[in-house]
Amino acid sequence: MITLNGIGASPGTAEGMLLCFRRRVFAGPPRPVGTVEQEKERFHTALRQADIQLQQLCRDTAADADEACAQVFEIHRMMLQDQDYLQSVEELIEQKGKGVEYAVEETSRIFSNAFLTMESATMQARSADIQDVSSRLLRILRGEEEKPLSLPFPVILAADDLRPSETVQLDKKKLLAIVTSEGSRNSHTAILARTMGIPAIVRLGDVFTAAMNGKRAAVDGSAGTLWIDPTDAIYEIIRAKSSDLDARRQQLQQYKGLPSVTKDGVSVRLMANVGSVEDCEAAMENDAEGVGLFRTEFQYLGASAYPGEEELFRCYRAAVETMKGRPVTFRTLDIGADKQAPYLSLPEEANPAMGIRAVRLYLARRDLMRTQLRALYRASVYGQMAIMIPMIDSVWELQEVRVAARLACRELGAEGIPFNPDVPIGTMIETPAAALISDELAKTADFFSIGTNDLTQYTLAADRQNGAVSPFYDARHSAVLRLIRMAAENAKAAGIPVSVCGDLATDLTMTDFFLSCGVTTLSVPPKMVLPLRERVRSLVIGRQEGPLPPPGESREGGV
Ligand code: PEP
Ligand code: MG
Repeated sequence: MITLNGIGASPGTAEGMLLCFRRRVFAGPPRPVGTVEQEKERFHTALRQADIQLQQLCRDTAADADEACAQVFEIHRMMLQDQDYLQSVEELIEQKGKGVEYAVEETSRIFSNAFLTMESATMQARSADIQDVSSRLLRILRGEEEKPLSLPFPVILAADDLRPSETVQLDKKKLLAIVTSEGSRNSHTAILARTMGIPAIVRLGDVFTAAMNGKRAAVDGSAGTLWIDPTDAIYEIIRAKSSDLDARRQQLQQYKGLPSVTKDGVSVRLMANVGSVEDCEAAMENDAEGVGLFRTEFQYLGASAYPGEEELFRCYRAAVETMKGRPVTFRTLDIGADKQAPYLSLPEEANPAMGIRAVRLYLARRDLMRTQLRALYRASVYGQMAIMIPMIDSVWELQEVRVAARLACRELGAEGIPFNPDVPIGTMIETPAAALISDELAKTADFFSIGTNDLTQYTLAADRQNGAVSPFYDARHSAVLRLIRMAAENAKAAGIPVSVCGDLATDLTMTDFFLSCGVTTLSVPPKMVLPLRERVRSLVIGRQEGPLPPPGESREGGV
């Protein structure tokens, strides 16, 4: 038996077979540019391979009765036969003596910009398709794998590290646990595991080899221990722990339906953090009073092509309907940093956590913002919702999004599509700047939600992805806590609700701090809602409060 210790990233136990996943690494030197004929030949071979892949994708998606998706791949096939596109790539090879990779990248840039400047929304949307299909060609030219990781049967998945886009595409029914050599407790992959309730351990060291594939293993996600070829005694320990967890889950059922109020009458709303409609079901099962954070980017990360308005609308409508009148707070697209969708073809950045991420991408790519806002407003008539903007630093950024929201509503109105104009629009507080100007932001935001994961990383200059700096990444650092208090007090002074939706909300030793600051909502992974309610009901805060403000009301009569 081998015993390995890492950092517990998501609690729970598992036993099963180990599947070691190694991403192929393409770190070779750049390929020298060949002759014009060689480069053109490579281009045409890549075109043929792309067409085969796209035909397969059309067949697969049509078989899954996903007609809209199948159509997208048909459009991509047509794009690869477009004479202007082919000519542009060939001319760059012939006239500029460039390699085919450069020629495809440059053509993609020129064509996608041209589509973006067109009047019609349908033509603008083609911009993302051109980028997507060009990325496919580039992956083929570079010999990169593009298949999502597929699990043959229920396994404990071992990897160096997993990207959020890989994790989100995994079949949860076949995922017993995730164990990684690297990673960090604060990465989005770890957050996803906690949201899905799947045990996970990170930073086990460089131990996984192909020889370990198929070995039996056991996982304790709370202790951060992985056993390979466990003895019977270990199996007994794991099973005992698992039945303790079941008993604890059973005991927590008594808190369902009870008010989330302290012994001295301070009320708080307990909501759930989710990333999918399936997670909303888990939120309901755990009696969450709503969704405090719907990470909408996971739908984008799980897709092989840019999700269109219809697909987004279907997801948002299903989410609000699943929550049966309980409010759903949709956080708009927070792509960038560790969350990358290849079809968006975002430029590489030296320091992506400080680059074009979240609202910055929204403002740079108006097509993305418009499509998502339209889909959200279309879903707004099917339940209660709020819209929340990530990574806000300045008031003008929030104002820009409000203007775009107003435009989306005007368009829907002109098309005769029903929507609720009074959806509250709030901001995340996840940079020190946002906390420091929270008095000003409170005049434009209908509510605040404090994202302690990023607030910690940006306040302490400690990368949340990098396990090596985890001793410096301390969400309970007094600098972070002062910023939280400042934002909560400014929200209270302005009479708007304030939530904490970052991971620190799951720390039950911090609940009294949050309530004493005047936090009105705590939002946590579904499985944490009932333990948190138990905790709230045991506390005495020592401050008297009136009733909670409503869960965010829109200002100025709506958008
Ligand atoms: C946060 O930063 O605390 C947050 C909730 O957002 P995310 O973890 O998705 O960046
Ligand atoms: Mg964040």
